Amino acid sequence: MKTQEENERELLRKMIQADEESRLYDTIKTKKIFTLWQCEICKDEFVTDNKSRYQMVGCKCGKSAVDDEEGYTRTIGKPKKLKTFNKDD
Ligand SMILES: [Zn+2]
Repeated sequence: MKTQEENERELLRKMIQADEESRLYDTIKTKKIFTLWQCEICKDEFVTDNKSRYQMVGCKCGKSAVDDEEGYTRTIGKPKKLKTFNKDD
């Protein structure tokens, strides 16, 4: 049979653990992912990030553009995905 003090200590430990886990999850969730694109028409390179909302990023010639968001990517013209990378602000 556990004492009340032991129970409280265990509860506190669980709460701290849950808090740490949720903070870790937030860090993963809010990580910015950048994508490097190249327009196949003018060969201009441009970068999008998955945190910008409703913002099209385009190349020099204006024929290719990308709206990169969490969950979906909208493209116009002929942008080619070169690579994705993470960057810490
Ligand atoms: Zn272009």
